[in-house]
Order: sequence, then C-alpha cells, then structure tokens
Amino acid sequence: MKTNNTEGCALCNATWGEYRDEVEGERMVFCCDICAAAFKNMVASVEKENGWSSVDSIEIQGNNNTGRKCSARSGKNEFSFYIKFHNDGRVKDFHRLK
Ligand SMILES: [Zn+2]
Repeated sequence: MKTNNTEGCALCNATWGEYRDEVEGERMVFCCDICAAAFKNMVASVEKENGWSSVDSIEIQGNNNTGRKCSARSGKNEFSFYIKFHNDGRVKDFHRLK
C-alpha cells in the first residue's frame, strides 16, 4: 500500500520517528504507534465503507488539527473522504466527500 507521504511516516510524513508496523501484510514506516493505529483505522474505515477487500493507495492532505482530506484507490475504484482522529488514533469523524 502506498501513500503520498514518501519521505517519512505514511500518515503524517514526519521523518523523526521510525516505528514499523504491518498493514495488511505489508511492512510500513510510521513516526509512532499512534500514527500506525490511526492509519490502520483509516484503512479499515475505507474498506468497510466501500466493501473493498484491500486498498492500493491513499493520497492524504491535512493534519491532525484540521482533519485530513483523502483519496483512496482500490483497482479502478476511487473514494474521497474526510477523516479526523482522536489523540489516541481512534476515528473521530469519517465521511465521504463528493
Ligand atoms: Zn506520523
């Protein structure tokens, strides 16, 4: 799975941390365990909403304060959404963007 954050953390692109976690069988790099938990919750929310069995890539714009506008792809399908997390990585707000 790919995100547009290629330099550091897959969720926030921070380069100060090196926390590795497995997301759907793939090793991914995060800055910390909270970002890893939040990212996994994001993927699970997207799959549940769309009935997808996997996600190929996610474009992420924004941060924890503003929430994030994202676009996920699975094969030919695309899904745009807004997501905001609690400080511990749980999903606070998640909805489809038109
Ligand atoms: Zn991060």
